[in-house]
Amino acid sequence: MAFFHKILIANRGEIALRIQRACRELGIPTVAIHSTADATAMHVRLADESVCIGPPSARESYLNIPAILSAAAITGADAIHPGYGFLSENARFAEMVEAHGLTFIGPSPAHIRMMGDKIAAKTAMAGLGVPLVPGSDGAVATLDEARAVAGRIGYPVLIKAAAGGGGRGMKVAASAADLEEAWRVARTEAASAFGNDQVYLEKYLDRPRHIELQVLADGHGHVVHFGERDCSLQRRHQKLLEEAGSPALDAAARDALGARVTAALAELGYRNAGTLEFLYQDGQFAFIEMNTRLQVEHPVSELIADVDLVQEQIRLAAGETLGYTQADISFSGHAIECRINAEDPLTFSPTPGRVNVFHPPGGPGVRVDSALYAGYVVPPYYDSLVAKLIVHAPSRREAVARLARALDEFVIDGIKTTIPLHQRIVRDKDFLAGDYTIHWLERFVGGE
Ligand code: ADP
Repeated sequence: MAFFHKILIANRGEIALRIQRACRELGIPTVAIHSTADATAMHVRLADESVCIGPPSARESYLNIPAILSAAAITGADAIHPGYGFLSENARFAEMVEAHGLTFIGPSPAHIRMMGDKIAAKTAMAGLGVPLVPGSDGAVATLDEARAVAGRIGYPVLIKAAAGGGGRGMKVAASAADLEEAWRVARTEAASAFGNDQVYLEKYLDRPRHIELQVLADGHGHVVHFGERDCSLQRRHQKLLEEAGSPALDAAARDALGARVTAALAELGYRNAGTLEFLYQDGQFAFIEMNTRLQVEHPVSELIADVDLVQEQIRLAAGETLGYTQADISFSGHAIECRINAEDPLTFSPTPGRVNVFHPPGGPGVRVDSALYAGYVVPPYYDSLVAKLIVHAPSRREAVARLARALDEFVIDGIKTTIPLHQRIVRDKDFLAGDYTIHWLERFVGGE
């Protein structure tokens, strides 16, 4: 049964292809939107229909709500999938999609808005019994207040923007002497980057892992989780490699976290896909934020749980109930994803340009999500993620071996990418042992 007549995909790159694939297997035609810079992009080539919605700058194209709604009206689409990034966590966009009689494939605008404000998100989760990172009780309005909170929770502290995202809008104050400067910079940056200078304080944890839980909910009280992802390998708070499950978690800890989180989201009346992010240190979980959308790293969960999360999102958005319970979900093997960015592997500066040769790896347990092709020119205007290499194997040890050989097979010629960095990571003894925290990669790349 087709859940929708036609779905417009409000995104580009690998995630637009990922959503197209899900739609095609469900028998639902797709509409691609694109900027003038993306006229020859793979997501346009593979869509059933496409509409050019504006010039290269994202503000005038992929973030241009009137143009996107017009494209949906012209093509007769009855639902919009936002992917990740761009408008995926824009509550006003979700509201406007609904006001135009279309279905937004995602949560309710109210829940997007609540979780987009990290202070509101933490307050809501605390009220539902989810443990938090120690910090301020809501927003901190003055430097004096910040001093008092920091004195109570102890240095180092992290000053975070309420409206922050994408790893931006965070400043560490190592000691009382640093607080004034960090406070000033954090507020100024929050105002200029997010148009909202509200900030809050958290204890800066010295050796946590980033562990997140993938959930699906139907809005009728049924919520399930698809296990955890360990996304501790980050540079500048941006994830570079993710695995499922976490090398640091056992089934009992996963089940306990899952039970608490699914109960909280059922009480909230949440619907569609979501991810709750936690820091995990000394056996304790502390909630930091919730993402109300599909995540870049969702494939590792798909592989260990044998589920198509995008098809599930579409089905749930059409009003279906989940139709299965937590007991029906089982996990098999281990999966790892490498984010391959068009970036210099040493300096991390973006490397847009022409891809001369594109030869993705294959063989058992290898998945490549990418919109690259030989002759494609990576434009300089958007995110630098150009491919995701995901492997699945019965054990972590076998998954790492598979990843190493797949990375060695991967040829992207013409532009520099992060492949050489991943090749080094997968051969490192700490990585092989699963022994790393969120601070590990910064030291690893710093030690070039
Ligand atoms: P964003 O929305 O920008 O991704 P998050 O709140 O999810 O911001 O944090 C991103 C990353 O920053 C986390 O994965 C973690 O590595 C780091 N981080 C966030 N909060 C803390 C904290 N209290 N202590 C240490 N590191 C933190």
